Amino acid sequence: MEDRTESAGGSRAQWTAAAERIAEDRASTERLIGSLTRLWDGVVEAASLTANDDEHDPEGATVAFERAHLRDMLKQAHADLDDLDRAAQRIATGAYGSCERCGGPISAGRLTARPTARTCIDCANKAGR
Ligand SMILES: [Zn+2]
Repeated sequence: MEDRTESAGGSRAQWTAAAERIAEDRASTERLIGSLTRLWDGVVEAASLTANDDEHDPEGATVAFERAHLRDMLKQAHADLDDLDRAAQRIATGAYGSCERCGGPISAGRLTARPTARTCIDCANKAGR
């Protein structure tokens, strides 16, 4: 079998490389979620301790900010994990490398830069991101 390196949607070798990168990204995202969750628990605990002390604690605003920031980071990390899972699923089903919008090929360069990309660069630009 010939390896058509520049074929639409990338070669098998590129898919393998993408699968490896997705697995690595997934592992590090899971580690991130683990440490963010521990931080979150710490902040929640600290907040409940200070709440008993004084409602108008000057640190209250900082804690609220930290909580909002952590919540955003956790939300983003879970979204990343979903993206990575979907990308891994598309590799498994053979849909990887095809644009979800137009069905056209996603360039190898784009997939290398962003292994979880679901649309080709044209559709991504049209979607405004
Ligand atoms: Zn497209």
